[in-house]
Amino acid sequence: MADRTSVLIVGAGPAGLVLGNLLRAAGIDTLILERGGREHVQARARAGFLGANSARVLTEHGLGAGLLRHGSTHGTCAFRDEAGEFELRYDRLGRGEPHTVYPQQLLVTDLIAEYLARGGGLRFGVTVTDVDAETATARFRDERGNTGEVAARFLAGCDGGYGVTRRAVPAPDHYVRDHGISWLAVLADAPQSMPAVTYALHRNGFAGQMARGPAVTRYYLQVPPGDEAAAWTDERIWAELAVRMRTGAFGPLRQGPVTERRIVRLRSDVVDPVQHGRLFLVGDAASLISPSAAKGANLAIMAAEVLARALTDALLRDDERALAAYSRTCLPRIWRAQEFSHWMIGLLHDTADAGQGPRFGSALRRARLDNLRESRAHQDFFAENYVGI
Ligand SMILES: Cc1cc2nc3c(=O)[nH]c(=O)nc-3n(C[C@H](O)[C@H](O)[C@H](O)COP(=O)(O)OP(=O)(O)OC[C@H]3O[C@@H](n4cnc5c(N)ncnc54)[C@H](O)[C@@H]3O)c2cc1C
Repeated sequence: MADRTSVLIVGAGPAGLVLGNLLRAAGIDTLILERGGREHVQARARAGFLGANSARVLTEHGLGAGLLRHGSTHGTCAFRDEAGEFELRYDRLGRGEPHTVYPQQLLVTDLIAEYLARGGGLRFGVTVTDVDAETATARFRDERGNTGEVAARFLAGCDGGYGVTRRAVPAPDHYVRDHGISWLAVLADAPQSMPAVTYALHRNGFAGQMARGPAVTRYYLQVPPGDEAAAWTDERIWAELAVRMRTGAFGPLRQGPVTERRIVRLRSDVVDPVQHGRLFLVGDAASLISPSAAKGANLAIMAAEVLARALTDALLRDDERALAAYSRTCLPRIWRAQEFSHWMIGLLHDTADAGQGPRFGSALRRARLDNLRESRAHQDFFAENYVGI
């Protein structure tokens, strides 16, 4: 006999948990099945920069207490290259909005606690193995190897970019781009070295620093495709960051033990449509976006709010118009975020397209940076896209 629920949500990341919370607030019966254990999910450090719309969604729906208490606002970024350094106060450009810095693992921890307090069903250590979009059923296996089935009115695929739910959407247009670029993503137990988010362009490759909290900082280093994270010792990471950040000219880095190092391949894809039958994809399940512009978690939160409204209309008012339009509502925003993320990739890396030598790519990159340094119109474009979607 299958378990029954109104909305079965696959995955307890930002997408699934925001959706679950909003549906519970409307009194809708929900069940989240999550492959990982609670401790694992609550410790997974990934995003940190939330745009103005994400902060609004979270606070408006009673999910922003931790963010308001422990998050910090951030409105400046700096660019370094061979010509020197310049800063952009992006919170005074474009729409005049800052980011809120709040580590994803803290947000996920808050969202789980609130979802359970709202009476939501949540099972950890349960892997969904197969979904049927027409009948809205899902089969799963738990950690002991027991199998089961859940029948729902609707399914929400919130299981990330490599999950099972996107495979159940026959997407006539599945757009994929592998940028052929890899980053070493590092977390260090150290306060940030520079007060602003810093992007360093260097002939050895890109390096970046992003705030995460008073005692933890994220750094990125572009590394050759195929490099293993383990090959990068603490000493090698700090030495290469010092070279690319040009510490001789701008001052030393505040070093500390590296607590996490992982290779992130810059890859983008969009599933189109993001719905099929009674299944709806949200967040990374709908579109993977490279972390170059810090958009993934923000897109996930945006789409979760759109879907929560549409499911509430369908389940409480018997009105499926917003559900029918879900793909049409989300895809233009996904593509705008993808477009800006690609623009950032072009700004931060020497990319050589077919028919174009590396020196041409590098000169274009310099021109793009000069525009950003000197043109108010380019700065407004950057600020509006950097914080918003
Ligand atoms: C290094 C790094 C830095 C980033 N920085 C930023 C940033 O600053 N700002 C930003 O907006 N974004 C950033 N991102 C992207 C952001 O982290 C993701 O876009 C975000 O986590 C997507 O949320 P999600 O809920 O869609 O998917 P996920 O967070 O991936 O959650 C999916 C969940 O589904 C579960 N799952 C998977 N398969 C199954 C299954 N078969 N059954 C049950 N459960 C399953 C997984 O265990 C996981 O918990 C960054 C990403 C990385 C890697």
